[in-house]
Amino acid sequence: MTEQTQERTKAQQYNFNKLQKRIRRNTGQAIADFNMIEDGDKIMVCLSGGKDSFTMLDILMSLQKSAPVSFQLVAVNLDQKQPGFPEHILPEYLKSLGVEYTIIEEDTYSIVQDKIPEGKTTCSLCSRLRRGILYRHAKEIGATKIALGHHRDDIIETLFLNMFHGGKLKAMPPKLVSDNGEHVVIRPLAYCREKDIIKYADMKEYPIIPCNLCGSQPNLQRQNIKQMLNTWDKQFPGRIESMFRAMQNVVPSHLADYELFDFKSIDKDSGVINGGDIGFDKEEFDSQPSAETVMEFDPSLKLDVANVE
Ligand code: SF4
Repeated sequence: MTEQTQERTKAQQYNFNKLQKRIRRNTGQAIADFNMIEDGDKIMVCLSGGKDSFTMLDILMSLQKSAPVSFQLVAVNLDQKQPGFPEHILPEYLKSLGVEYTIIEEDTYSIVQDKIPEGKTTCSLCSRLRRGILYRHAKEIGATKIALGHHRDDIIETLFLNMFHGGKLKAMPPKLVSDNGEHVVIRPLAYCREKDIIKYADMKEYPIIPCNLCGSQPNLQRQNIKQMLNTWDKQFPGRIESMFRAMQNVVPSHLADYELFDFKSIDKDSGVINGGDIGFDKEEFDSQPSAETVMEFDPSLKLDVANVE
């Protein structure tokens, strides 16, 4: 803890406690809603050196102390040998926390440089290699879960990426089995706002490792969506919260996926399903959710359309 942290004023300390409580509460709620952590779990916490994974480790360690179940945490970082990667930062930090950890060293950077022609995007091969190494390691250490630091805004961005560019109504699941079918992947920060994590990481003064060491350009499509969402968040407070709640309130009978909902069997005896069809009218909404709903993001709050002011 630096002098600056020690010298927080009373007001700063109050704000910090409030923020920490909110992130803890949202994380605890997501863990409970999706049954992410069970008694006896050994959780491999993937640490990139960015604000999200530092926050996730911190909050999981804090929840571990008060959780009704007992679970083990192992922090894991993959050093991909990117030029300028500050090797000492994570071991020093993790030692100071007293958490069990492993740094895996694999030169995927050279492989990617070697295989991908100049000017082409390197991320898909790089992340495929990274996934393979982390899955293998999880198996070696007998991890029962793999925890990733994606948050609510990552999930919403992915939803839009899939809609805009993939033609799918699909986001990033808070809990699912990995693509190789061998691991349970969890995202404990699924209910946490990125802006809370940014503030928290800043106040905690984490030793952040820059994410541009590989020299790759950021994903432009994701950047554009992020920008669009940030603009909406400023112009229409509550919209992001409402969109996230929408993902937890899916009404298949009012979408158009005939494989998800059996439209074909509907006849006049089927009864009114999920409010039925409102015939000649289109659904109308007065305005955005009220300001109070955005002050404190409470994922357990299912906003009823009838109550939107
Ligand atoms: S940004 Fe760099 S490190 Fe990240 S996936 Fe792409 S190539 Fe790999």
